[in-house]
Formats: sequence, structure tokens, C-alpha cells
Amino acid sequence: MLGSLRPHEYVTSIYHIHLERLWENGIRGIITDLDNTLVEWNSPHATEKLMAWLVQVERLGFRICILSNNRDALRVSNFARPLNIPALHKAGKPRKASFYTALSQLNTDATATAMIGDQLFTDILGGNRLGMYTILVEPIHPHEFIGTRLIRLAERAVLCGKRPSAMQSEHFLFYVTVDDKEGEEFHS
Ligand SMILES: [Mg+2]
Repeated sequence: MLGSLRPHEYVTSIYHIHLERLWENGIRGIITDLDNTLVEWNSPHATEKLMAWLVQVERLGFRICILSNNRDALRVSNFARPLNIPALHKAGKPRKASFYTALSQLNTDATATAMIGDQLFTDILGGNRLGMYTILVEPIHPHEFIGTRLIRLAERAVLCGKRPSAMQSEHFLFYVTVDDKEGEEFHS
């Protein structure tokens, strides 16, 4: 169970992800959480910085899809439509069904797809269950549901005080290939 909660990378934000390295290692699709991963919780619009990141993502050739547990269909679609990105709301992560739907949108295999998100028990657990490459980011802003705040306490217990690392690139797929040393994909 704890192994399923371990991301392959833990970075400060999406802007710290080594996109070129992902591509070199065969990742072709990106499924990303929305709230507190791309923008602050319930923030209606993409920032200019996010738009520039998305341009880079697409320029490299990735296909990208938003997978959100947010139940507000309008909030999710109004955010994604101007960006011309497919988006699924009320995803029920970590349940597998919505991940399969997202993969069919991208037309990529799970092993060629990265899952990016700020929550261990939804984004990372769900992605790992399908065999995706999982990337945990720090939540953008502390304003969250009270329920999410309680989950953060459990997440901190799992992460054991580990901090995001800037050294993700050379440890790509480390957890998958050398899982008898699975603790080493984190770096303090
Ligand atoms: Mg989130």
C-alpha cells in the first residue's frame, strides 16, 4: 500500500518538471490534476506562466488532459476550454475508471503517461495503480477544503518530512526498476 503512495518524483511545482527528460524516457501523455496543481483551488483562469508551460508541453509533442475530482462541471470546463485541453470533472480519483477515460482521450498507454498532482491519496495512488509515471507537486496554495486539510496530515505522515527534490532527472524510473531500494527516489 505504501509503495502505491510513493510518487516517482516529488517536485516543488509543475515548473520544476524536466519535460525533455520525460519525453526522452518515452512519456507521451500527461494527465494532470487541476486544483492546487495547475492553479490555486477554484481559480477560474490559467495564469500566463501556466499558459507558457502548456505551450512548451505541446511543442515537445505531449498530449495533455485534465483529470479533476472537482464536482463543478462548469468550473472545470470553463477553465479548460480556452486552453483547448480535454478535461474530466468528478473523476473520483483514485478509482481507475476515470484514468482509463483520460488515457483513451490521450490515446496513450498507461506506461507512456505521466500523472501529475498534489495529492497522494488521489492523484499518486490512482496513477500508480495503473502503472503510470507519477509526479507529486507541492500544493500551490493552502486554501483548501477542511477535508483536504485533514488528508494533508496523513500525507505528511507518508512522506515522513521529505521535501521536493531538484534532482529528479537522473532518478527517472528508479522506483520502478530498483524497487528493493524504493526509498531512494526521494531526496532531502
Ligand atoms: Mg489537487
